Amino acid sequence: MIDIKNYNSENIFAKILRKEIPSEMVYEDNEVLAFRDINPIAPVHILIIPKKQYCSFEDFSKDADDKTICAMIRSISKITRKLNIKNGYRLVTNIGKDGGQEVPHFHVHLLSGKEFGRILP
Ligand code: 5GP
Repeated sequence: MIDIKNYNSENIFAKILRKEIPSEMVYEDNEVLAFRDINPIAPVHILIIPKKQYCSFEDFSKDADDKTICAMIRSISKITRKLNIKNGYRLVTNIGKDGGQEVPHFHVHLLSGKEFGRILP
């Protein structure tokens, strides 16, 4: 089971941040990196992550400084404009076991390119 209480610096996104493994980057600034999901579930599937080490939205929302939180939020419209997303999108962040989180570095999924319908059937 993943641990979202203690940051594991060997998680796959930490390795992407250190450029130890490649990713298809779509956006980067001092605080944020965004890249394409390796296993997309939509025509557009981007992962947006802070460069600082947070396990999930839980510790991010509790501990991150305002500059980092602001950069994460503001990066989203920069990415949608860069990717020319016109018809809307869905943001998802999974937290911990019940949330279905697999990678223990906080990330937001940006999904687009099709109609998703209601969040639950
Ligand atoms: P979670 O289930 O933690 O919310 O989402 C983790 C996401 O990371 C999954 O959608 C998965 O496809 C993606 N992922 C896992 N390993 C890699 C990788 O090595 N590179 C990229 N680009 N995405 C990955």
